[in-house]
Amino acid sequence: MARVWPVQGPPRFKIARWTDNELILFDESRRESWLVYPPRSRYAFVRRGTRDTTIIVHHPWAPYSQEVEHAVRLQQGCGQHGLDCAAQEALQAAIDTGFDPFR
Ligand SMILES: [Zn+2]
Repeated sequence: MARVWPVQGPPRFKIARWTDNELILFDESRRESWLVYPPRSRYAFVRRGTRDTTIIVHHPWAPYSQEVEHAVRLQQGCGQHGLDCAAQEALQAAIDTGFDPFR
């Protein structure tokens, strides 16, 4: 079941999957997914530099496109892109919908 959150206009993201281990958001108009792995995630394949790092994977649906991984910490932001990070909107959407990406 898709959820929406209170923003003006159509919501950018749909929730494709929500568990304690991950939140998967679909952006159907941009044809991409955002996979959020919070620090509490028990998935062994998620590699994080510190225990308080949230891993966010940008996954374009186009064939042969590259996934981009963002390692984000609550105080520091994204290790690669700082506050200019493309994962910010997905993180905000996660927070708005009640998923805590930093726990
Ligand atoms: Zn980033």
